[in-house]
Amino acid sequence: MTQNKEPQDLSGKYDVVVVGGGAAGLSAALVLGRSRLRTLVVDAGEPRNAPSEHMQGYLTRDGMSPAEFLALGREEIARYGVELVRDRAVDVSRVESRGEDFAVELAGGRTVHARRLIVTTGLEDELPTVPGVAERFGRDVLHCPFCHGWEVRDERFGVLATTPLSVHQALMVSGWSDDVTLFLHTVAEDELSDDDLRRLAAAGVKVVPGEVAGLRVEEDRLTGVRLADGTVHDRSVVFVAPKAVPRTGLMERLGAELQETPFGAYPVVDPTGRTTVPGVWTAGNAMGFAEQVVHAASGGYRAAAAIVGDLIMSDLDAAVAG
Ligand SMILES: Cc1cc2nc3c(=O)[nH]c(=O)nc-3n(C[C@H](O)[C@H](O)[C@H](O)COP(=O)(O)OP(=O)(O)OC[C@H]3O[C@@H](n4cnc5c(N)ncnc54)[C@H](O)[C@@H]3O)c2cc1C
Repeated sequence: MTQNKEPQDLSGKYDVVVVGGGAAGLSAALVLGRSRLRTLVVDAGEPRNAPSEHMQGYLTRDGMSPAEFLALGREEIARYGVELVRDRAVDVSRVESRGEDFAVELAGGRTVHARRLIVTTGLEDELPTVPGVAERFGRDVLHCPFCHGWEVRDERFGVLATTPLSVHQALMVSGWSDDVTLFLHTVAEDELSDDDLRRLAAAGVKVVPGEVAGLRVEEDRLTGVRLADGTVHDRSVVFVAPKAVPRTGLMERLGAELQETPFGAYPVVDPTGRTTVPGVWTAGNAMGFAEQVVHAASGGYRAAAAIVGDLIMSDLDAAVAG
């Protein structure tokens, strides 16, 4: 294993290059390594849940720090000879003259080659530009009740609306607290339907119109939401719905078909994560907005298993063809 030692020898063709070393990529790498395939993980080292101290909802790992989870994953793939390089893939292409050969260019200047690719580059959360929101994201500014709801149950929740879809978030988080205020912020009151208003009332969610100017923070804790008119509402937690920006750059370079969803454009895939580009798979948040850590790990496993079969059959086909 040559993990984290520079310069690594990345020459020769890998069976598989995995771009992205989060839960999806490392899980794929574990299966590939155990299948005796020469595998390289290229990872820029910025997993989506890095702002959070705890990772919840992954059976047997509930409450573990995301950094520790990934460090354990890197240890596990090392046992099977999988290599990992801390770098960013900046371009990718198929080397037509050499058949099953993808060339992945790294920001550090090197190019690696592989017969198959798994792209597990995740997504970026684009947060509203309200002062304090980005700084406190993952602490007391939260996006996902499944990730954090239990830890803040029964607290005073605010929901910072960014689109009329934020009504759904306010309704959802009412499952974790009876004290929820929806701040309409950039959403006009008349954008809410009668059905929205009826459901909000049934859930006991208070609706406050007006732009949010910032958060009140005292002794490093969120204590309130400040409106542009100067009024402050006592709140200890704020939920926001970041705009999901999938990292599809490499997929687009390869010509993969993408499909629009309300949460961004993601590659069209089969049930194993195989994209429309032969030889290229994806998993985790690069494949879908709602993929939690456990789904990402599972998707990585599925993609890797499909690649193992694909490579074995492809080699047998070549042998049979003589
Ligand atoms: C604040 C917060 C808290 C969360 N809490 C939870 C939780 O408690 N439980 C839960 O199940 N889920 C949680 N999630 C969701 C969780 O983050 C995702 O489910 C998970 O990160 C998806 O894993 P992934 O491998 O697809 O992507 P990521 O974990 O984002 O990993 C992608 C990796 O690819 C790398 N990368 C990107 N582009 C390139 C490139 N071009 N070249 C090389 N490397 C690249 C990135 O740097 C990163 O290391 C949370 C999310 C957020 C934002």
